[in-house]
Amino acid sequence: MRINIRNCLQIVRKADEKLLDFLYPPRCPICDKVVLPEDKICPECRKKIHEAADPVCMKCGKPLSNERKEYCFNCGKRNYNFTQGRALWIYEKEVKMSVYRFKYQDRREYAKVYASEIVKKYGGWIRDKKIQAVIPIPLHRNRKRKRGYNQAEILAEEIGRMLDLPVYPKLLIRVRDTRPQKMLNDAERKNNLKKAFKMEENIVQLNRVLLVDDIYTTGSTLDAAASVLKDAGILHVYTCCISIGKDD
Ligand SMILES: [Zn+2]
Ligand SMILES: [Zn+2]
Repeated sequence: MRINIRNCLQIVRKADEKLLDFLYPPRCPICDKVVLPEDKICPECRKKIHEAADPVCMKCGKPLSNERKEYCFNCGKRNYNFTQGRALWIYEKEVKMSVYRFKYQDRREYAKVYASEIVKKYGGWIRDKKIQAVIPIPLHRNRKRKRGYNQAEILAEEIGRMLDLPVYPKLLIRVRDTRPQKMLNDAERKNNLKKAFKMEENIVQLNRVLLVDDIYTTGSTLDAAASVLKDAGILHVYTCCISIGKDD
């Protein structure tokens, strides 16, 4: 092998990955047990989780109970700023616990598994949409400092790396530390999220981006972020999440 800077960097990167595997051994994100890297998710755990499979809402990707419907309840009554969204798993039981550990218990290594599952399922969709970059939903700096990391950013980095797309974690910033959205009604949510995001200048001139987050509930957070991105001149904002609720 020729020794040049590129080769050296590759060797360092490989060693880096080995060290990371040692510090953070790959774990099944569903049961949290250490698994072989090639397994990613235990076969028994795979049976417990449900993909956000067809029929899904044409807009947000939420699984529909009635296949004659085109849109879920929320998308039927609201006009979202994002063009289309997709999600990996239904947000229930094991998936709920998995995302919780990823978010609050430092299970950052789950991002690799989530990303590879997302790429397996939606890599074609992402390419078809001619997406140019991946952007994570940002955390407010106070919250990021407290938690130590932004889970959406780690996920975005993995998706970008796997699809060879640039990731811009600083393009969108969260200027307001919004209260948890769960307890609020629709109007309060919108108000709460208004002006929560700000965009750094669209210096890279992007037209089609993928906005990444962990959970899709009502779509309000992604919608607010998408609106800011569109105001900055981005034409199409697509969304992708690890998990999503079912249509009621
Ligand atoms: Zn497992
Ligand atoms: Zn929908």
